[in-house]
Amino acid sequence: MPKILGIDLGTTNSVMAIIEGGKPTVIPNSEGEYLTPSIVSFTKTGERIVGSLAKRQLIINPDRTIKSIKRKMGTNYKVKIDNKEYTPQEISGMVLQKMKLDCESYLETKIDKAVITVPAHFDDAQRQATKDAGTIAGLEVVRILNEPTAAAMAYGFDKQQKIQTIVVFDLGGGTFDVSILEIGEGIYQVLGTAGDNFLGGDDWDERIMNWIVNKFYEEYGIDLKIQKEALQKILEASEKAKIELSTKEETTIKIPFITSDATGAKHISYSLTRKEFEEMTKDLVERLRTPVEESFKAANLRYNQIDDIILVGGATRMPMVQEMAKKIFNREPRKDIDPDKVVAIGAAIQAGIIEGNVKEMVLLDVTSLSLGVETAGGGFTKVIPRNTQIPVKKTKIFTTVQDGQQVVEVHILQGERELAKYNKSLARFDLVGIPPAPKGVPKIEVTFEIDADGILHVSAIDLATGNKQKSSNTFCFTSRKNRSRENVRRSFKICSSR
Ligand code: AMP
Repeated sequence: MPKILGIDLGTTNSVMAIIEGGKPTVIPNSEGEYLTPSIVSFTKTGERIVGSLAKRQLIINPDRTIKSIKRKMGTNYKVKIDNKEYTPQEISGMVLQKMKLDCESYLETKIDKAVITVPAHFDDAQRQATKDAGTIAGLEVVRILNEPTAAAMAYGFDKQQKIQTIVVFDLGGGTFDVSILEIGEGIYQVLGTAGDNFLGGDDWDERIMNWIVNKFYEEYGIDLKIQKEALQKILEASEKAKIELSTKEETTIKIPFITSDATGAKHISYSLTRKEFEEMTKDLVERLRTPVEESFKAANLRYNQIDDIILVGGATRMPMVQEMAKKIFNREPRKDIDPDKVVAIGAAIQAGIIEGNVKEMVLLDVTSLSLGVETAGGGFTKVIPRNTQIPVKKTKIFTTVQDGQQVVEVHILQGERELAKYNKSLARFDLVGIPPAPKGVPKIEVTFEIDADGILHVSAIDLATGNKQKSSNTFCFTSRKNRSRENVRRSFKICSSR
């Protein structure tokens, strides 16, 4: 029977797992590692390298090596190598393709379906881009699953049928997510989510890197910030130092031959204590508080109402992060689940449910950002408020603002602000062929539907004519009345509206 692969497509590393003999199993890549760096490198001879070999290229081939592309998913960003442009989904697709191939050779079976996880606060365009990355890799993405939900599924897999409220505290390389979930009796319900898309272990690395660069400048008057290769070496050494400081009180950062000047070669050899490291990253740790507060507000819960805290993501190995979690909740967070593998294990469990190899569980999820349309005067009217359970379908009636108005622009936005211009624009389309009528008379019904993957489908209907065009990832409208003369048909793919 064809298997469905569970993939944690991370900012820094990706992990894959599958259900084998009824149990989730993490699959090593062709290098025998469980973590595949989400890095792609193009050699000067046109070869494409993915994973830990590409990570090594960060130093010697920095201009042709791409990391943290997940931060760019769902945007117009392009990577240009040898005059060829690559989209973030193409780069992510290369990472996924390596995983697919490695898994196929490990299991000696073909894999063409996957469950892929995304941060809970990934918006619609980012989710669609992730699906597209799967397609590019030759994988049918049967489900996009929120990372904290996947972690909770892994956590609850072997547990008793007792309802618990847990917090998933997920600090990866590039993102921070907090989710509050209710688990038990086969039900996983996300009560609230919040996060920071630009806070992760990378930021801690950067602090060490800047500290080294400044120290070196003070010592030699040489600015290493403008020496790309040197900077890459420092960044790598910074990450290594950070990881060491999770278990040691002090580390020495040694980089021989970092640069040279007229007086000869220069080397780096600096000692950094955990205390100093914690001091220089105090504000980063403080930033963990806000999403926690927001998620509890969304869930309408108090900190003392939770039963457990799960740590997810490699960066939660830092003692200062664990301390902060402990300080906020006044209890020890759970560390018995491997923070690197837990999300992939959850993805494999979801894959197993779809395959029918794991007993069905109901999975209730919620939207993390409100969705709606722009209304007269630049206002924003929510159609689906944040923290609504998905899948969901909601409808609102809108009307015209001018006498005889025959066209209405439907501008779809995502966000929490009252003015449309402060929210994120997802797509626009015109609804044409509205029969002339005094303002306020036409009734235009707009339907927002979010499917189980968290992907939005929008349709609009003019109730007077009954013209309706449903969309499946695309917004389409054709005015039947004016089909012959003014056939206006514009379709928008959410992911192409960036
Ligand atoms: P993830 O996105 O979950 O793979 O997490 C990657 C991040 O975790 C990177 O910033 C790593 O440097 C960081 N990380 C991994 N192991 C450790 C560790 N032992 N201590 C501190 N950070 C770590």
